[in-house]
Amino acid sequence: MEKLDQFKEMVKNRHDYAWSWKARTGGKVLGYCPPYMPEELAYAAGMLPVRLLAEQMPDVVSAKWIYASCYPAKNMTNMILSGVYDYMDVFVNIEDCQWMFNVFEVAMHTNPSLLTHYMFFTDYPEAPTAKDVTVSEYKVLKGKLETWSGKTITDEALDEAIAIYNTNRRLLRRIYELRRVYRTVILGSEMMYILLANQVTDKAEMNRLLEELIPELEKHEPFDDRLRLMLIGSETYSAELEELVESLGANVVVDELDNGSSSFWNEVVPQKDRLLALAFRYLGRPHSAMKDSNWRRRPQHIFELTEDYMVDGVLIVKQLLCHPHGSDNYALWKMLRERNIPYHFFERDTTLPPDETKIRLGGFLDMVRPGVTRIRGWHQPLVI
Ligand code: SF4
Repeated sequence: MEKLDQFKEMVKNRHDYAWSWKARTGGKVLGYCPPYMPEELAYAAGMLPVRLLAEQMPDVVSAKWIYASCYPAKNMTNMILSGVYDYMDVFVNIEDCQWMFNVFEVAMHTNPSLLTHYMFFTDYPEAPTAKDVTVSEYKVLKGKLETWSGKTITDEALDEAIAIYNTNRRLLRRIYELRRVYRTVILGSEMMYILLANQVTDKAEMNRLLEELIPELEKHEPFDDRLRLMLIGSETYSAELEELVESLGANVVVDELDNGSSSFWNEVVPQKDRLLALAFRYLGRPHSAMKDSNWRRRPQHIFELTEDYMVDGVLIVKQLLCHPHGSDNYALWKMLRERNIPYHFFERDTTLPPDETKIRLGGFLDMVRPGVTRIRGWHQPLVI
């Protein structure tokens, strides 16, 4: 569908978009990596928050700065030092994964004109003091954003930002609802391009595109029923894997990725204290792997998604050397085994070796397929 193709182009042209947004608005672009950035605050200050997306490109610099890290962190370091992100005026790092902190440190030390802020975010989102700590951190961040943008973040501006972001979350949830039926109208790769575009585009603009897209999607001729997969693991930066899955006759119908469904799953519930409302939203979002330690929410959340989306199998795809997703795997594997949900685990970097991955995925799908009676036609009389 033509409307869906535009999102792939938006991801490809995201750097040009950021440059032209700056030229058009005179505003500042704020880059961030980990999952807990309260984007509404930056948006209310008139900035464009963009998530940094890692991409493999010729690398001659990152090895001097960053040693033995995961590939997304290496790639981002390389992109920053090579000038790809020169449009970024502000870089905010919210406490989450160590490798991303290294990217932040390199950017901070190599570019003195870059405006930077490190924000602490608790490792225990359910702790009784978590909301107070988060609100006090938000106050500091808010002050810095006001200084850098030269704008006071008023309650009205915050309310507007919260309304735009909540609308965005609701629109994405509506598309996810369309993926719950057996013959879905959207493929996993198409959805992933929407999600990636969503993270590098002004949300008000994105909302207009999603509002135009949804009625067309609802009228779209559904695809054939296919094996239904869920994708979990490290965050992703392309839809290559989903495309590979589709070439094998299956479809990714849901995910639990930090920059996938977890990025928009819950809304801000407005209240008089706007910073507290934001704190509850970010503390209450599906945990990132880093924060899922003392009070584990991820296994149950993932299980509920497998049920709601009638998943036939789960792909756990981890970036090489990704420590948050390496250390929590045992809890997910245990849950999936106990509940007899087939899964396949593999590691990758920001590139995906197509032949090897195809063989592995093909093997997994061949194991899952015989048990999936609905595709064979369970409703047909059995001929022996
Ligand atoms: S892939 Fe894992 S280790 Fe690397 S930046 Fe992402 S969360 Fe951190």
